[in-house]
Amino acid sequence: MRHVDVLIIGGGPAGISAAIWCKRLGIDCLLLEEQSQLGGQLFNIFNEIIDYPGMRTKNGIEMQREMVKHFVEMDCLYEVNTKVLFIDERSKTVKVKKQAKEQEICYTYLILATGSSQRKLGVPGEQQMIDRGEVYSASADGERLKGKTVAIIGGGDRAFEGAHLLSSKAREVYLIHRSTRFKAREQYVERIISNPCIKVMTDTEVTAIHGDRHVTSIDLESKNKEYKNKEYKNLLVDAVLIRLGVAPNVDLIKGKVATAQNGLIVTDDVHQSSNPFIYAIGDSCTTPLFSSISSSAGQGAIVAKQLSSMLNI
Ligand SMILES: Cc1cc2nc3c(=O)[nH]c(=O)nc-3n(C[C@H](O)[C@H](O)[C@H](O)COP(=O)(O)OP(=O)(O)OC[C@H]3O[C@@H](n4cnc5c(N)ncnc54)[C@H](O)[C@@H]3O)c2cc1C
Repeated sequence: MRHVDVLIIGGGPAGISAAIWCKRLGIDCLLLEEQSQLGGQLFNIFNEIIDYPGMRTKNGIEMQREMVKHFVEMDCLYEVNTKVLFIDERSKTVKVKKQAKEQEICYTYLILATGSSQRKLGVPGEQQMIDRGEVYSASADGERLKGKTVAIIGGGDRAFEGAHLLSSKAREVYLIHRSTRFKAREQYVERIISNPCIKVMTDTEVTAIHGDRHVTSIDLESKNKEYKNKEYKNLLVDAVLIRLGVAPNVDLIKGKVATAQNGLIVTDDVHQSSNPFIYAIGDSCTTPLFSSISSSAGQGAIVAKQLSSMLNI
């Protein structure tokens, strides 16, 4: 069975940084990424990135290119299209799937750099909408959504920011939230509530998304003011933007290391988890409020330096 001293799961900024640092420190290391390209969430960033020291890029894809160029130039060992299916922490092996073939890899230390994903509604029609590519960015898709009726689901900063950005482009914007309390910053809330182009619907949940070739309507379930009865309605919309925040990708490790109530992997100051042979970096262990490309890259450096001393290199 193949053995590596350090196995990194995830090829986003955290994993890329850890692999570069491992290479620099002479550690035998392999990075596995389930997608066909390294970069993780960089592929979802359509805005200019202005907060990474020394590299200002017009979007995430440009930063992805720069990071991967650096990574490849450093001759880091990696495999894409390779999904880690299972971690056996007792035998220190992982089971991976690459192009329908399964194999096992044995590690001395494991770094979880699995990142985070947007939370889903979990309602009928949602996955079909995503599979059809009806996934919009409020900042980048203003032209695509011009003149359309748009529903934005959520009550946090990103939902409010999205509603604000689209209110000048779309024909109608509905901001739909399941509660009457919002997590978004107060200044965002005030701006949206007073915007006549945005209809805010509280105490309302989306229960289905309809449309065969594209979204045509959504089903809503609202509590009435007395909270005694529920009201049901169908709302005609052309697009749905789900903005429910992010959740760490930790299914793989659930029950094997300690996680906090919000799902994040609990780590110490060198990013060691409750298992001394398993470390976590990036969005898998960082509160969304504090997650960033630079903190992910920094955590990659910390963990590689720590493992270098553990391996006596
Ligand atoms: C719209 C948007 C805008 C943003 N703008 C900024 C910004 O301007 N500045 C900034 O600093 N940050 C920004 N961020 C945040 C930043 O992108 C993240 O904090 C950063 O990408 C986290 O890096 P990561 O490596 O921890 O995780 P990710 O980037 O999520 O990468 C994790 C990788 O792990 C892989 N993976 C997961 N599970 C497995 C498995 N089982 N097997 C193999 N591979 C697996 C995934 O496919 C993914 O490639 C933004 C994020 C978004 C969504």
